[in-house]
Amino acid sequence: LSQSVGLRLEQLTSIAAFSAALDAHRAHGRSIGLVPTLGALHDGHAALIRRAAAECDVVAVTVFVNPLQFGPDEDLSRYPRTLAADAALAADCGAAILFSPPVQEMYPGPVLTSVRVSGLTGTLEGASRPGHFDGVATVVAKLFAMAGRCRAYFGEKDFQQLAVVRRLAADLSFPVEVVACPTVREPDGLALSSRNAYLSAEERAVAPLLHAALLEGADAVAAGETDPAAVAAAVAATVAAEPRFRLDYAAAVDPATLAVPAALAPGQEVRLLVAAHLGTTRLIDNLGTTVPAPSPAPARKADPACAGA
Ligand code: AMP
Repeated sequence: LSQSVGLRLEQLTSIAAFSAALDAHRAHGRSIGLVPTLGALHDGHAALIRRAAAECDVVAVTVFVNPLQFGPDEDLSRYPRTLAADAALAADCGAAILFSPPVQEMYPGPVLTSVRVSGLTGTLEGASRPGHFDGVATVVAKLFAMAGRCRAYFGEKDFQQLAVVRRLAADLSFPVEVVACPTVREPDGLALSSRNAYLSAEERAVAPLLHAALLEGADAVAAGETDPAAVAAAVAATVAAEPRFRLDYAAAVDPATLAVPAALAPGQEVRLLVAAHLGTTRLIDNLGTTVPAPSPAPARKADPACAGA
């Protein structure tokens, strides 16, 4: 099945057609940018697609609400599905291909093979959403296998997912360069998410507190706090100030390993991550910061021999 939006977007739903289209572009010497999504595209996705279009000859956006990555009590059935608008946005941002396979095309039978990136998935989102990252890793591995050599664009918004995808690409030798893109936020700090559409007006009004909490954590690091638990507690305390929030986790981790360091060392990079329920909506966010270098020794009295130095 193939149809066109604005004369530029090729919409594909079969794996064979998707792979063949990308193979044909590569045969003409064109580089491929891949942007995997669940759809309900917003400005965060748009930033990924635009970046891919700036760096690659041909951009393929995939829209697939992957049942494998949703838990039994999660929002699979109510997840927003807005394919026509997604196609328009993708085309607008420079995509040439939109691949939106039906579930039956991706999983024609029981899934007997699954990809698990152990080590990076036992904590944080992995602890709160058992099986989630196996579902993500499995579908991303399938998309990488279908797409072939490409650059694949992922958002820092889903920081643990980014780490998982990087690792799976390396460990399974996919010819894919994973490119990380910064989180796009609303003017009030709320990270853009398809799930923001679930929020009531009252919930939306307090939602930016999640970002504010991360900034509190970063302030604690900047002020010299070296205990990751204390930094996480500063984030948690800010979230707790709003009773509509129910905190899931707050953590300060090493961005490469996602492990909590024993202590924060000068110059070290730290990632602050938070997840909380706001009504029936679960929101996540994260922020990078760097532990300040030790402050220089107090300046000595001016030494005339050093004048002008
Ligand atoms: P999703 O459709 O939520 O699975 O997201 C698809 C891709 O878009 C993932 O790589 C996300 O990390 C990325 N993404 C989602 N929201 C944002 C955002 N606010 N800023 C940047 N990237 C995002």
